[in-house]
Amino acid sequence: MSQRITILPETLTNKIAAGEVVERPASVIKELIENSLDAGATDITVEITGGGRRRLRITDNGHGMSREDALLSLERHATSKIKVDSDLDCINTLGFRGEALPSIASVSRFTLATRETGAPEGAEITVEGGRVRDVKACGMATGTVITVEQIFFNLPARLKFMKSAETETGHVADVIARMAVSRPDVAFLCTSDDRELLRLQRSDLQRRLAQVVGRESSQHLYPLQGTDEYVTIAGFISGPALVRSGTQAVYTYINGRFIRDKVVQHAVMQAYRGVIDRGRYPVVALFIELPPGEVDVNVHPTKHEVRFRRQSVVHDAIQSAVEEVLRSSPWLPEAHSAPPAPGGAAGQTYRERIAAAAQASLSLPPRPQYRSQPTDRSFPAATPPVHTGTVREPEPIFVPQEPQPESTGYFSALSIIGQFHSEYILCQSGSELVIIDQHAASERVAYQLLKTQCRSGAVESQRLLFPETVELSFSEVAAAARFSEALAGIGFELEPFGGATIMLSAVPRLIAEKEPALLIRDILADLDQIGTSSAFNEMLESLLSRIACHSVIRGAHPLENRQIRQLLQNMDQTDFAASCPHGRPVSHVITLAELQKIFKRT
Ligand code: ADP
Ligand code: MG
Repeated sequence: MSQRITILPETLTNKIAAGEVVERPASVIKELIENSLDAGATDITVEITGGGRRRLRITDNGHGMSREDALLSLERHATSKIKVDSDLDCINTLGFRGEALPSIASVSRFTLATRETGAPEGAEITVEGGRVRDVKACGMATGTVITVEQIFFNLPARLKFMKSAETETGHVADVIARMAVSRPDVAFLCTSDDRELLRLQRSDLQRRLAQVVGRESSQHLYPLQGTDEYVTIAGFISGPALVRSGTQAVYTYINGRFIRDKVVQHAVMQAYRGVIDRGRYPVVALFIELPPGEVDVNVHPTKHEVRFRRQSVVHDAIQSAVEEVLRSSPWLPEAHSAPPAPGGAAGQTYRERIAAAAQASLSLPPRPQYRSQPTDRSFPAATPPVHTGTVREPEPIFVPQEPQPESTGYFSALSIIGQFHSEYILCQSGSELVIIDQHAASERVAYQLLKTQCRSGAVESQRLLFPETVELSFSEVAAAARFSEALAGIGFELEPFGGATIMLSAVPRLIAEKEPALLIRDILADLDQIGTSSAFNEMLESLLSRIACHSVIRGAHPLENRQIRQLLQNMDQTDFAASCPHGRPVSHVITLAELQKIFKRT
C-alpha cells in the first residue's frame, strides 16, 4: 500500500494562503490597517521605504495584545473576532479569518511589537519566513507596531511581479485613502522614504473626502441620505461636472468595509445613465448599511467581494437613492448656461461661435492659484518640449499649419461644391461626386501632423496661460511621475502638486483649447495599467490618435470655403488619407454612372 498524501507543514500552508491575501505591499497595508481599526486605534501611521518593498511599518494606538496573544496571533486561524459558527453570520469587524498575520509573516522578515492597555511593558516577536526567531520584552507606548521587511524574499516568483517603487507607493496611498474615507474619525499619516505622502487629521466625512479626492473635486459633491427598513445609504456623490476615467474614485462601503461589487457598481452607474457619458465614472463615496446577516463577506480572502441575500433590493435602493440626488439637480442651472451643443449652433458662423466662446470664458470663475513646488518634488527632468507662445487664442477647427506651397494632389484638385449638414464636404472630380467626412479627415490630418512631429523629436507643445490642476488617484500620480519624460515627448508637461493632484502646465498645441485635462486624465488612467517604458512606446500610436481625436470638434460645424480648401490641401500631405486613425473611411466616391443608375437613366 502506498501513501502519497501528506498534510503540508504550516509554514507551507501559510505561504499558500499568503498567495491569496498578500499580493503586494499595498495589500499587506490593507490587512494591517484593518487590524489596527479593529483594535480601536484612532491614530495610524504607515511608513514605507522603496514603495514598501524594502520595508513597511504600521504603528497604531489601539488596545494592543498580551505577549501570549501576540504569539497566538501568528498562528493560522487564530483570531479574537469570531468564536463559533454562528458568529460568521453577523460579522462586525473588518477581520475574522485569522489569516493575515501568519500569511504576511511567512513571506517576509516580520516584527510584531505590541503592548496591551495597562500592561507594564510590551513584547517584541521576530519572525523570518514564518519561523519565530526571537521573543523579548520591550518598552513602548500602548498599541502595536508591525514591521515587514523584504516582502517575498522567500517567494521569488512573487517578487518578480512587483512593480517599481513609485507604482507600489501609488497603490499604498490609494489603499490608505480608501480606508481613510471610511473612518474620518481616525487620523492617518503616511510617509514614503521619509517624505510625507498623506496626512489626514481626524475630521468629518466631507473634509476627509476633500483631502482624498481633492479640494476642487469635493466642491462638486452632493450629500445623499436614504433609509428604508432594510438598508441605509449615506454619503456624497458628484454631479455631471465631475467625472473620472475609471472607477478609482467610486468608493463604496458595506457596513464600513470597502468593497468592489458588481451589483453596487451597476446600481450606481444605472443612476448616472444619461447624466454622464459612457466610459466616464462619477466620484462617489457611498456607505451602505445592512443587517450583518443580510450580507456575506466570507466570499474571498481579500474580503473585497460580498454576496447579498436580497441582491435586487439592495441594487434598487442604491439606484434610487443616487437618482434622487441627481434628479434634484443642483447642477442643472449650470448645465443650462453651458454653451449650446454643437448641433444646436448650426445657424451660427464659426466666428460667431468663437466670439461666443470667448465671451463665455470671460465669465468663468477665476482659476486656482498655483504655488511653486520645491525642485526635489518635481518629476524627473524632461526634455523641454517645443513651446509656441503662452497665450491661448482662438484656433481654427482644423490643424493650423503654416501656409503650404500650393499642393497638387488629388484632394487639392477637387472642385468644392459645398457642405452638407455641416458635417460632410461635397466635391467634384471629373464625373465623380466626392463626399468627405470632415471630422474624420481633420482627425487624420492631425494624427499625421503629430506623427511627423513625434518622429522629428517632440510634439509641438503650448504652455497654458493658467496651468490646470488635475485631481487623480495616487496610482495615476505615480504613473505621471513614471512617464513624465515620455509624456513631455508628446507635448504634456506635468508636475506633482501635492497629494493626488498634478499640475498641467503645457499640452500638445493642437488641444490647448480643448479641455486638455480631460485627455490627460484618460491617458494617465491607461498608463497606470502598464509598467514599462517599452509598453509606452507600443501605446504611442494610439496615444497620438487620441490626441488627434481630442483636437477635432465633433458633430456639425459650418465651414468657410477657405477652411475646406485648407483641409483638402492638408489631406494631400498625409500619407494615408483614406481612413481616420480609428479606421473609419474619410471619403466616399459616387460615380456619375452610379447616380444615373439610381435615377434609372441607363
Ligand atoms: P483577523 O484580523 O482575521 O482576526 P489577523 O491574522 O489579521 O486575523 O490577526 C490575528 C489577531 O491578532 C486578531 O484577531 C487580533 O486579535 C490580533 N491583532 C492583529 N493585529 C492587531 C493590532 N494591530 N492590535 C491589536 N490586536 C491585533
Ligand atoms: Mg486581520
